[in-house]
Amino acid sequence: MIEVKNLVKSYGDKLAVAGISFKAQDGEILGFLGPNGAGKSTTMNILTGYLSSTSGEAYINGHDILEDPIAAKKEIGYLPEFPPLYLDMTVKEYLYFVYELRGCTLPRNTHLKEICELVKIDNVYDRRINNLSKGYKQRVGLAQALVGNPNVLILDEPTVGLDPKQIIEIRTLIKKLGKNHTVILSSHILSEVQAVCDRIVVINQGKIVADDTADNLSRELTADHKLIARIDGPKDEVIKLVQTIPGVVSVVADLQRERGVWEYNIEAIEGTDIRRELNRRLMSRNWYILGLRSSELSLEDIFLKLTMGESVTEFLADKADDLEERYKEEGDNS
Ligand code: ADP
Repeated sequence: MIEVKNLVKSYGDKLAVAGISFKAQDGEILGFLGPNGAGKSTTMNILTGYLSSTSGEAYINGHDILEDPIAAKKEIGYLPEFPPLYLDMTVKEYLYFVYELRGCTLPRNTHLKEICELVKIDNVYDRRINNLSKGYKQRVGLAQALVGNPNVLILDEPTVGLDPKQIIEIRTLIKKLGKNHTVILSSHILSEVQAVCDRIVVINQGKIVADDTADNLSRELTADHKLIARIDGPKDEVIKLVQTIPGVVSVVADLQRERGVWEYNIEAIEGTDIRRELNRRLMSRNWYILGLRSSELSLEDIFLKLTMGESVTEFLADKADDLEERYKEEGDNS
């Protein structure tokens, strides 16, 4: 488990991390998401013991990273954005080296073999790292993070620079690892955290602005009263009919999807759920709903809403206050 409490880091006058708190539980993959300059690397560097904090606490499986760094670091496998690979070494030489460096006491050959099978680099075990593709190099980076069986994995932008196939492979691997590790994965790519993470912490300008499941984050900002319906029926008559449903404010035929099938944007008064009535009325005319979804914001929209633009300054401040309140309450209750 990872626990961060009121972590602050200033570089001179620059406040890079402004009092953040969060927890990552065992077996959880936590996405740490924010634009460049948000404070992700600073936080990760503090968690891995590379940087000291200005104030606040960070615990890795109960070990204080500042007070007891050796015990804390033993629990951590770290994959920096640019893994520190020795390109002239073979994969085997490199992993032997990391094994020694970490003072690992597990049976060497069996342990390294298991890791290589897991991250699928056993076929390049005797190849020089320099001659490997970027995807393979990244997997060697992951392999070094796994030496010594650490419980906590900290992965900084793990798919940067990989091609789509390699991205899928690394994501699949991270998901697999997430089953028996605590994983923190930093990213500025929404689809990445959406695809891999159970929970997402969004950070902006050194402050946490959201801390929730990906689904909840979407839901929280979802416009339930705005629907996109794909309907098989005569367009003008469908519009007329839908307009008669109590609560409906507007109906617009947006796109023709197939012959006679249009996609309609339907907006109702906030708090009104018109789905059943929509169904009932269309059925009574033998017109069919072929698809129905609320016009949910994608995580991309949420991200923009959370982290950008004048209009969301207040929203951001409110979110940060809500979270502070929640952590205070949780702290009081624990
Ligand atoms: P991220 O990883 O989210 O891109 P960083 O943690 O690297 O963000 O940076 C957070 C802020 O701290 C940025 O404004 C960055 O310019 C500043 N910063 C990072 N490292 C240093 C440093 N060594 N000295 C001064 N400012 C720094």
